[in-house]
Amino acid sequence: MSNAPGTSTPSVATAVELISAAAAANGQSSTSTCTPALAMPPWEFDGARLPDYGPGASMHDSAPPATPRQGSLPEDYRQASDAELHRRIEAAKEKLGGRAVILGHFYQRDEVIRHADFVGDSFQLAKAAKSKPDAEAIIFCGVHFMAETADLLSGPDQAVVLPNLAAGCSMADMADIDSVTACWGQLTELFGSEPDDDGRLPVIPVTYMNSSAALKGFCGENGGIVCTSSNAAAVLEWAFERGRRVLFFPDQHLGRNTAKAMGIPLEAMPTWNPRLALGGNTVEQLRQSRVLLWNGFCSVHKRFTVAQIEKARADFPGVRVIVHPECPMPVVDAADEAGSTDYILKAIDAAPDGSTFAIGTEINMVNRLAAQYPQHTIFCLDPVICPCSTMYRIHPGYLAWVLEGLVRGEVLNRITVPATVAVPARTALERMLAARP
Ligand code: SF4
Repeated sequence: MSNAPGTSTPSVATAVELISAAAAANGQSSTSTCTPALAMPPWEFDGARLPDYGPGASMHDSAPPATPRQGSLPEDYRQASDAELHRRIEAAKEKLGGRAVILGHFYQRDEVIRHADFVGDSFQLAKAAKSKPDAEAIIFCGVHFMAETADLLSGPDQAVVLPNLAAGCSMADMADIDSVTACWGQLTELFGSEPDDDGRLPVIPVTYMNSSAALKGFCGENGGIVCTSSNAAAVLEWAFERGRRVLFFPDQHLGRNTAKAMGIPLEAMPTWNPRLALGGNTVEQLRQSRVLLWNGFCSVHKRFTVAQIEKARADFPGVRVIVHPECPMPVVDAADEAGSTDYILKAIDAAPDGSTFAIGTEINMVNRLAAQYPQHTIFCLDPVICPCSTMYRIHPGYLAWVLEGLVRGEVLNRITVPATVAVPARTALERMLAARP
């Protein structure tokens, strides 16, 4: 994790504006975005205009009905220029002093990151919130499950605020508590719930950090655990010490890539489709399974392909290709390395000057790394500009709105995990901390 950098290079949002303006003027542009809707302001998607996730990589995934709805952002924040919003955010921060801490995820747009007190991945930021017990408000510039995790780890008197409630995560939303509970019921009917002669349970549930607090709580209540993309292998080892097989949700790719690297054959890793009986598997397939993979995925990381890697190698001989383990297995297999955002950051930081990197993760982070490490050549494997659509919803207008609310003594968009969920969810997180290598 790092303290917020001062970024001055063209941001993704600026690039999107330039591309859109060029496309409007000429009918075409030399670079492109995944959708022209990226140039639309995020408040066009406030309130009843959901349930899509909005412009960006996950816009074609529909949001579940229970997705929190963002009310309309007041008009003066919509009309304010970038410079005006910047000034208002800085002024509110100064008035709030140490009463508020702003956390910015690596995938957040530069116009927001410039105001963050800490920048990191979701778990690093939740721990940063914990390190600021005197802050009355934690402004989480990320997505909904991250704000929930910060609420789990912060003090009871601290308010966690998500500037735009529509900033969900399409992957996290692919596994909801009702579907996972129904799956668990079918597995329990098939395997029972008693340990075998070695004391191992039939199934251990493992949820990726990118999931709702309800699913973390489910794991806490059922002998399970949480993992991150940094510690997934250690967590799977923990689970196999206690169970014959693992139910892994919501990201099939992280589960498959991690288990494969541990030597588990692909035929022992069936996917679970919650819309089908037995997840679309036969009883025999389930009996032979070691890891049951929920069929969720990240729309951002699903965009990376083997063809992009081949092109990067043809264009830049000697290029080092690093991808995130949320990418599909063929992409991870074709890359030189796979690792979490923290792994990518450390690999670039430790490389000798003049290195060339092709990176398979979200473009805001890649562009920021390229700006921070001018001694290297760093580019995104995907030539199309396609940020995480839900992170992209944290526009500076929403940040200014919640900060000025705090200055007036009004807490807007507070995220609170109910105690019935929080207690078992913390249990699952504590197991993860104990299992970490
Ligand atoms: S990058 Fe993917 S996993 Fe991360 S918040 Fe966006 S949709 Fe969710």
